[in-house]
Amino acid sequence: MLQPIIEVNNLTFQYDQRLEDKVLSDVSFSVQKGEWLAIVGSNGSGKSTLAQLLVGLYSSLLGSIHINGIELNETSKWEVRKQIGIVFQNPDNQFIGSTVQDDVAFGLENINMPYEEMQVRVEKALELVGMTDMRLYDPSRLSGGQKQRVAIAGILALKPSVIVMDEAFVMLDPKSRRSLLNTLHQLKEKEQLTIISITHDMDEAATADRMLLLEAGKVKEIASPRHVFQQHTNLEPPFAERLRRKLSSKGASVPSTYMTEKELVQWLW
Ligand code: ADP
Repeated sequence: MLQPIIEVNNLTFQYDQRLEDKVLSDVSFSVQKGEWLAIVGSNGSGKSTLAQLLVGLYSSLLGSIHINGIELNETSKWEVRKQIGIVFQNPDNQFIGSTVQDDVAFGLENINMPYEEMQVRVEKALELVGMTDMRLYDPSRLSGGQKQRVAIAGILALKPSVIVMDEAFVMLDPKSRRSLLNTLHQLKEKEQLTIISITHDMDEAATADRMLLLEAGKVKEIASPRHVFQQHTNLEPPFAERLRRKLSSKGASVPSTYMTEKELVQWLW
């Protein structure tokens, strides 16, 4: 069995250590290289906190996190951050450069990358997120969705092994969202990029390899989307599954169990 790229063991965390109720309690899971894990759960269930712990922005109270075999702690976190990047919901907090391309280059400048290589990386990253034409724009004047794309480009340029996205697609229009999701799926296939995506979009979560359902700071389930949507009927299912249920309730002879979009389309044809 391969060593997982992320291994979380019995993680327990509280912002205010005087409080008894924990934000995360005894959270354990692992993620394989090249896997896409969607983290879902209601507001306040601890998803963002978990994301920030994974990239070393906070230290855990109890338990451990290993990234690529390195235990995350105060000393190792700088080394670990070269391998794991995070994109937040609100990209305004992440801009530093005066043009889009400067901004994407910022992380690379920090690691003293030679200029020619940096240019190639920035160009490629802007292309991946469809922002090449806006390379000379002032980032502060972009729309929310464009800012999110630039923030994602800044992380992709660093070529991390793992990208953590904390609702990083919320401001994207449906077309850009679909295109970026396709790009990330391709990077996962071609370059074994590991993706951890916190999302409320169940259509997106349904395309992940596995879903982690958090409930009040505890792992309620970690399994395939099919299993999660079958077992947790309180979760709003993806569109295809809603349609299957609707067709079934109208008496259509659809299969009686969960169907992915692809399966439903094949069945309808
Ligand atoms: P989610 O991302 O699932 O909505 P969060 O991780 O943001 O959940 O929040 C989990 C809990 O931690 C909530 O009760 C929230 O109020 C609390 N919390 C989040 N951030 C902070 C913070 N910086 N300081 C104190 N409490 C926080």
